[in-house]
Amino acid sequence: MMTLSAAPRLYPFDGGITAVDSGYHREEMAACYLLEAGDEVAIIETGTNDSVPLLLKALEERGRSPEDVRFVIVTHVHLDHAGGAGSLMRECPNATFLVHPRGARHMIDPSKLEASVRQVYGDEIFDRDYGTLLPIPAERTRVVEDGETILLGDRPLLFRDTPGHAAHHFCIWDEATRGWFTGDTFGLSYRELDTRQGPFIFPTTTPIQFDPGALKRSVERLMNNGPKWMYLTHFGRVGDTARLAGELLHRIDELVAIAEYYSDAEDRGKVIAAAMLDGLEDAARAHGVVMSSEAFRDVVDGDIRLNTQGLEFWLDHRSGRAA
Ligand SMILES: [Zn+2]
Repeated sequence: MMTLSAAPRLYPFDGGITAVDSGYHREEMAACYLLEAGDEVAIIETGTNDSVPLLLKALEERGRSPEDVRFVIVTHVHLDHAGGAGSLMRECPNATFLVHPRGARHMIDPSKLEASVRQVYGDEIFDRDYGTLLPIPAERTRVVEDGETILLGDRPLLFRDTPGHAAHHFCIWDEATRGWFTGDTFGLSYRELDTRQGPFIFPTTTPIQFDPGALKRSVERLMNNGPKWMYLTHFGRVGDTARLAGELLHRIDELVAIAEYYSDAEDRGKVIAAAMLDGLEDAARAHGVVMSSEAFRDVVDGDIRLNTQGLEFWLDHRSGRAA
């Protein structure tokens, strides 16, 4: 478990981009990004309230002050991405908060968001992991529409609507490095699972808005720009984007097939989770991952739980087809 007083772990990349480990749950699970251009800084993803001191220290290590932060941006309003936004905005007096049209009201008044997350995780985990969500003043909030370009200094950032993981999700294209800040749209790729074949990737189907068709279209939309890099929230920068996109699309289909196959099973959640773990471990072995099954399970366990919940919610709520 993390210690809050620890110095932040920084991952500097080309083009004035630094990943900061947000400290969420374990090392190298969730990242925030500092993006520097001239006198201005953008912070993409805020982590949780516990991440904010780490981000402030990261700014200091980069020779920047909170006053230099021009934009605080969240790809979507799930709390491992946006839970610290209110606290961070309070620390950065010159920052404007940039958010998806469907996410804005939940950050200006977080009460509904808090209630829905408490419903998924329970009160104990909510209080431990997320604390108090601070509202962001509406006058400091700017809704960004699909296709808008916003300048950080002289650096253009293009925003694209990318539903599928969540309906309130956008990704940000950095032309300078030909990279996307992908939030959760381009899945999860943990560095523990890197091998000589490169990064391993799998989708996140978190409740309650997982939509496989939309997610696949969003991944294809990202690939249309011919990206060199993907800056994932979970975790860090990956290249080899064409291979990863192919594997991600394939694994979205696999998870949907598992969910549909077991849709009427007794103990549905248990069997879906077990089939998902088996399938992922097989794929990881084929990718050259050699860690023990126990160690592998430790890396993916939390995501399998959330993915299972998301698939079950999707099974129960999808329209237009018999369950
Ligand atoms: Zn998410």
